Amino acid sequence: QANFYQVCLSPDQSPSGNGAGGEAKPITLLCTCRARLKKIGQKVMVGDRVVVSCPDWQGGTGVISEILPRKTELARPSIANADHLLLVFAVAEPDPDPVTLSRFLLKAESTGLEVSLCFNKCDLLPPDSLREWYDRMRGWGYDPLMISVYHGVEYRFEGDRMEISPTLNLSSNSAGLDKPGFGESSPSLTRDGDRNLVSGTANSLLDRLRLKTTAISGPSGVGKSSLINKLIPNSHLRVGEVSGKLGRGRHTTRHVELFELHNGGFLADTPGFNQPELQCDPHQLGNYFPEIRDRLTKGKCQFDDCLHREEPSCVVRGDWERYPQYLHFLEEAIEAWETSQHQP
Ligand code: GDP
Ligand code: ZN
Repeated sequence: QANFYQVCLSPDQSPSGNGAGGEAKPITLLCTCRARLKKIGQKVMVGDRVVVSCPDWQGGTGVISEILPRKTELARPSIANADHLLLVFAVAEPDPDPVTLSRFLLKAESTGLEVSLCFNKCDLLPPDSLREWYDRMRGWGYDPLMISVYHGVEYRFEGDRMEISPTLNLSSNSAGLDKPGFGESSPSLTRDGDRNLVSGTANSLLDRLRLKTTAISGPSGVGKSSLINKLIPNSHLRVGEVSGKLGRGRHTTRHVELFELHNGGFLADTPGFNQPELQCDPHQLGNYFPEIRDRLTKGKCQFDDCLHREEPSCVVRGDWERYPQYLHFLEEAIEAWETSQHQP
């Protein structure tokens, strides 16, 4: 509800004796916000670290008296302290459209957060087609995670080989990975110390989520809710049917929620990202393309304000797949930028 905030305290912040001999559990307090904060224009955002005054441990309530400085801040959707953005698409149902995918990627890159790209529903395509998407995304400068939430597996490519590991099949207990689902057996698993990941999965989805606050985004119907339900079994998110249209669905009215993972990470469902509209300084656009960033680390264009449109001695040549897309988005950005600059 608008005027109440759920504040989670880690076990070390809870009063002693909590858990009554059992293992200490995080406590959640339902808090209101000091009027003083509102007066000085401070609004609590999901993901905020706050100071709670007057905790009533029995009643489970408290008052937020201070908001600690934010590491990062996303505006729409509003979420504080995120450091990672997980963009989810599906390899099929709905089929990915490269231009839409780029729009989402640009929007993601424009947040300044670390970006991971994830393709779900890999169970729907044969290995050759998965490989094509994988290689194509590598060409775009991303190292995509290829997953099937249905089967709880990740697909990895080593040379010509494709490897499937059941690394998304967790149970809610902290041991993790002890519950292979959907009839999957896991003969090759080895435990990695007291961590819940198997060896050789340095590049698995859970590895990328560990100890970070991740905002999850992507078009509707790709399996974002299913993924959150899979990783956080008690999140009870509603899983919908694939709808023909993009965006503006049931997600747009929902508030942002932050779910705690058992590996020290947090996952936020970020509904507002479903309709990306990019407004940026045209000179910034190149920074949102890994292909351009890469070329600019290796060389320097003659002009500092180069827009990489075949200017003399430009180091960004058009020998990469998304170059025509870049030019297209650049025109769009220039137009939008000029319009916005001429507004009073
Ligand atoms: P969201 O709109 O992105 O949150 O997507 P949902 O989680 O609501 O899922 C949309 C549809 O995709 C549902 O019918 C899911 O059952 C289905 N789905 C989710 N994950 C998978 C998967 O790994 N494989 C297949 N084939 N379908 C999936
Ligand atoms: Zn250039």
